[in-house]
Amino acid sequence: MSEAIRVVDLEKSYGDVHALKGITFNVDYGHIVGYIGPNGAGKTTTIKIIAGILKPDSGDVIVGGYSVTKSPLSTKKLISYVPEDGGLFDHLTLMEHIELIAALRSASDVEIARGMELLDKFGLTDKLKHRISTLSKGNKQKLLVAGALMVDVDVYLLDEPLSGIDVTTSMEIKEMLREMAANGKAILFSSHILEMVERLCDRVVIIDKGKIIAEGEMEEIKHSATLEEFFSRLVAENNE
Ligand code: ATP
Repeated sequence: MSEAIRVVDLEKSYGDVHALKGITFNVDYGHIVGYIGPNGAGKTTTIKIIAGILKPDSGDVIVGGYSVTKSPLSTKKLISYVPEDGGLFDHLTLMEHIELIAALRSASDVEIARGMELLDKFGLTDKLKHRISTLSKGNKQKLLVAGALMVDVDVYLLDEPLSGIDVTTSMEIKEMLREMAANGKAILFSSHILEMVERLCDRVVIIDKGKIIAEGEMEEIKHSATLEEFFSRLVAENNE
């Protein structure tokens, strides 16, 4: 089976807002797929449905062969998730955050060691006993990424993971994600930093107003433009 995530015809409304209008795409094992679109396009809604946090009105997502609507416990075990916001308890220390994730995910010693290694790489080792509330925005985000990448699962959902993170650390995370994909992991990566998406992702799915407006291999989809140029043109055409 090459598909780690199969998103099938997702529909989701919030009251009068029709947020997703039949979203279908796949993420294969060993691939990093960029999920991009303007503000309010429906990216976070899609990712929350894949993560099993939101229920779709119709459609389904199959993760590792299990349905998120019918077997959410099975799919959640296969997924690690960086949410766009939330995900941290301010009163915990950094160490307690790692311990909490370790407990929730029944992490092995190897996974916990990886979490500590990531914190070290991100320059957070001297803050292990500090409360999360005292961290800068970028350091909070680094902690969130470390917690999500420490667990060894098949599927990683990263919703704006680099938000507020400095360039050097972003490049390090990019290299880590590449290595993870080379080891067979499936990664769905949502970001407004299109330069990073262009350099990191093998495939891209572009969503606007709840519908996919383009999808394909990064190189073939851009037609020798930059992703930023292609994206701007496409969204403008979709709004004509
Ligand atoms: P951004 O890039 O700004 O994070 P997004 O592509 O992630 O946007 P979503 O957050 O999925 O977009 O939102 C899709 C649509 O659904 C938007 O119109 C948004 O206002 C609406 N929406 C999202 N969450 C809710 C909610 N809890 N209640 C009502 N409307 C919502």
